[in-house]
Amino acid sequence: MIRSIIGLFVLSALVIACSKNALTGKGQFTLLPESELQTMATTEYQQFLSSNKVIATSNNRDAEMVRRVGQRITKAVDAYYAEKGISDKLAGFKWEYNLVDDKAVNAWCMPGGKIVVYTGLLPITQNEAALAAVMGHEVSHALLQHGNQRMSQGLAQQLGGVALSVAVANKPQQTQNLFLGAYGAGTQLGVLLPFSRKHELEADDWGLKFAAMAGYNPQEAINLWKRMEQASSGQKPPEFMSTHPSEGRRIEQLEKLMPEALKYYKPVGN
Ligand SMILES: [Zn+2]
Repeated sequence: MIRSIIGLFVLSALVIACSKNALTGKGQFTLLPESELQTMATTEYQQFLSSNKVIATSNNRDAEMVRRVGQRITKAVDAYYAEKGISDKLAGFKWEYNLVDDKAVNAWCMPGGKIVVYTGLLPITQNEAALAAVMGHEVSHALLQHGNQRMSQGLAQQLGGVALSVAVANKPQQTQNLFLGAYGAGTQLGVLLPFSRKHELEADDWGLKFAAMAGYNPQEAINLWKRMEQASSGQKPPEFMSTHPSEGRRIEQLEKLMPEALKYYKPVGN
């Protein structure tokens, strides 16, 4: 009897740790309730926006473009989730898209759909479809809960696997650094963490599909990564390349993913 109770306890602990991602249907190591991360993201996002120069969309074509691309991609995400009957998984998402004036080549998406694009990225994206490739990729990291997995691992390794609320209460600075690092937003604090190759491939896969569903030619992603690699041959590689290592095989992998992504592509005249 006791053994079966212990067994049940272990089993339920495993079930919590290995939740399923709605998009892939695959198991994953997420210890943290996404809702708690979304709450934390709301605070961190506001703090980031208030301490950086946000470019208003009025009379700024780049800021307008970031918002337009974001809206088109998230509309595609909404439609896809509705079609799959999993719209409830987006309940905590309140998408926001902001362009900040910063030379860093960077972009990220926090839980609940809090997106930032840095102006330094735009000379490399050069066109709207390439920006859609980056934003689709970042949105996919959020939907795939990659940050949650990184944050879960970080909490387990650095803070002994305590609950998020306990970590925030006891070690606020360390927890904030972990959080920003987990979402690729920690450049100023020097806590850049590269996403794993597996996460990168998964985010590329879904990112291409969502960009395509939003009416952007996914093939532009290949040109984008060529430019990204050129930019990273300089003395200081862009932040985006530090968190998104390409290892030279990215373009090859994108080409493999392309036929499937192109099935979702419906041009709407960019
Ligand atoms: Zn990535």
